[in-house]
Amino acid sequence: MADDSESAGARAERRARFQPASGMVTPRFSGLASFMRLPVLDPAEAVGEGAGEGAGLVEIGLIGIPFDGTTTNRPGARLGPRAVREASTGTRALNHATGVAPYALAACADLGDVPINPVDAAETAQRIEAFYRPLAEAGIVPLTVGGDHFITYPVLRALGAARPLGLIHIDAHSDTDDAQYGGSRLTHGTPFRRAVEAGLLDPRRCIQIGIRGSMDAADERDWALAQGMRILTMEEVCARGLPEVAAEARAVVGEGPTYLSFDIDALDPAFAPGTGTPEIGGFTTREALHLLRALRGLDLVGADVVEVAPPLDSAGITALAGAGIAFEILCLLAERVAARG
Ligand code: MN
Ligand code: MN
Repeated sequence: MADDSESAGARAERRARFQPASGMVTPRFSGLASFMRLPVLDPAEAVGEGAGEGAGLVEIGLIGIPFDGTTTNRPGARLGPRAVREASTGTRALNHATGVAPYALAACADLGDVPINPVDAAETAQRIEAFYRPLAEAGIVPLTVGGDHFITYPVLRALGAARPLGLIHIDAHSDTDDAQYGGSRLTHGTPFRRAVEAGLLDPRRCIQIGIRGSMDAADERDWALAQGMRILTMEEVCARGLPEVAAEARAVVGEGPTYLSFDIDALDPAFAPGTGTPEIGGFTTREALHLLRALRGLDLVGADVVEVAPPLDSAGITALAGAGIAFEILCLLAERVAARG
């Protein structure tokens, strides 16, 4: 543990080393675009010396997974990490609403993109899991930008290997299909079914928020409910209001380790047109920010923002939403890192 091996002063020094480039020194539109203008660090270097929480050189790693090979409708999310990096150069160091200064609370770096195989989902899954396992062992909390939603399953294979996780899943879709196109079990419509089947998620500690739109078949919903997963449809979200929704999410996941997954199509297409499977009647970006801010204090062990598809975007609006939501989630993760020392 960091507390045993490193003084508070040394920890502060390490965190001070990993600051985003200041927009007061070099303009935000200049230079190479990393996530949040953070230093770029090789994953092997990030893992550092030992194992266990606090053993890594950094505490939070921002990672791109430019893979959309299991998209069932309109492709383009492979370009999400690059566009979100670019849009994220506008995010600054202090959250005006919560007062959280994430880079003062946790050493953060851009760990680059996972070296995926764009034409092989199974091999890509192996590469993602292999990329995340050493990070998990070093206690580095990953914040991932996809990529289609399939990528969450191999990430969970690394993060949930030691014990099943809780899940807060904000999405228009449950992504709990069994198979698509006559037998494909690894798609962006199946990651949470695979993760529950593999024991990576505790279904009774899983909540899906904002689910709406039409389904191919009721099995996607009925299977999830039969496992004990909680589905808060958008209709229920509207009827009950965000404070109650957040309270229920907190109650479902409790105090145990939890993963947060944000599909950008949870937002209404008016706020996120650049995504493969848009559904009308979604969250505004403002509602999404308020919902995330109501999730402070949970034991979040990782998170992702997926399904930003720049070729379908208008004026970068969806990449901007993805970057802003990633920053909001980064603030949650940084507070959690700081709370644990
Ligand atoms: Mn979706
Ligand atoms: Mn999804």
